[in-house]
Amino acid sequence: MTDAALTAADQTNAVTDDGIEKLPLQASDAATRAAIAADHGKRDLVGLSREELGVALAELGEKPFRVKQVWQWIYNRGVTDFAAMSNLSKDLRTKLDEHFVIRRPTRQVEQTSEDGTRKWLMRFADGKEAETVYIPDVEETRGSVCISSQVGCTLTCKFCHTGTQLLVRNLSAAEIVGQFMLARDSYGEWPSPTDESRKLSNIVMMGMGEPLYNYDNVVKALKILVDGDGIALSRRRITLSTSGVVPEMYRLGADINVNLAVSLHAATDEVRSRIMPINKKYPLAELMKACREYPGVSNARRITFEYVMLKDVNDSDADVRELARLVKGIPCKFNLIPFNAWPGSAFEVSSWNRIRRFSDMLADEGYTAPIRMPRGRDILAACGQLKSASERERKSLLKARLEAGIADDPHG
Ligand code: SF4
Repeated sequence: MTDAALTAADQTNAVTDDGIEKLPLQASDAATRAAIAADHGKRDLVGLSREELGVALAELGEKPFRVKQVWQWIYNRGVTDFAAMSNLSKDLRTKLDEHFVIRRPTRQVEQTSEDGTRKWLMRFADGKEAETVYIPDVEETRGSVCISSQVGCTLTCKFCHTGTQLLVRNLSAAEIVGQFMLARDSYGEWPSPTDESRKLSNIVMMGMGEPLYNYDNVVKALKILVDGDGIALSRRRITLSTSGVVPEMYRLGADINVNLAVSLHAATDEVRSRIMPINKKYPLAELMKACREYPGVSNARRITFEYVMLKDVNDSDADVRELARLVKGIPCKFNLIPFNAWPGSAFEVSSWNRIRRFSDMLADEGYTAPIRMPRGRDILAACGQLKSASERERKSLLKARLEAGIADDPHG
């Protein structure tokens, strides 16, 4: 299959006028079947809920108490080999190995910045790729793992590099949890620490994709990550960032109630609809209402409003005043992000003085508004860059093959 044909086959999504992808896409069937065949049709245990794991083990004739044992081996000890499950009988370990696998994404690229940021390009069983990043705090004793929820993105925010890549597909619960597990492998952080010594202490669902357009898989993955018998991360240490998918914000609050971050990026509907087409569907008044009603929001647990600083677009003094009016009464803070230009982008970053003034004015209005300093600049400046670099490499490889008359599968 040619690259163009692959692209057409895999990106069968149709972006509507409001820039929102409506169709939930699945992995390329052929590629997935090939990957599964490589495991001789064995089922991956990662990503199953406890109930699903119980059913899978019951089909092998095992009692319900085995669920906790296997769960602990997978998610607390981090093993990937059934032979290591030493409190299970040899017979059971053999049986598990015959029917199941404990899969991880493949670590396609791993880069560590001089500031300690580590970034992975992860490849999944069907060859699709997404990025995961570990961002340590300044003391480098702990930090956040930034996880992707989709390959590409459902949305088309005009300032975002990922938004230029059409949605390829949603990631499964296994692939979402697998990103965190592979990051833990990379730092050798198994078994799951039970105290405050965790290095990978937080998760932010802020990687590629709009997590609330992959709602079921994301919530299933988060439930696995907070399960007390496994990775046992407190939901207070997980933040989900959304561009403002209002109905799912209500569902999220009811279903798992992790911390909420909202990509706001504008103070008026006019500007926001221009740079974030989703605003046409869920305008600011509805978005602010959903924020106000998000369960558990308080001064101790504030909503974070992400705000990318775009020169002459959203960075005026009037914008600050409008923002203050907009979020009045919502326990919140702002996170000001200097725009990171990418090839072909139509925007420029605001001047440093302007960003400082914006931050100071928000502080005068009573809102914390730190300026997020870019991390890991030496390994890559912008989100999406590793994936783009990988795609470029693959395309030039294909071009070379075509020129040499060897038109084989570029994903091979
Ligand atoms: S900012 Fe987020 S939601 Fe918008 S296109 Fe980029 S990845 Fe998607």
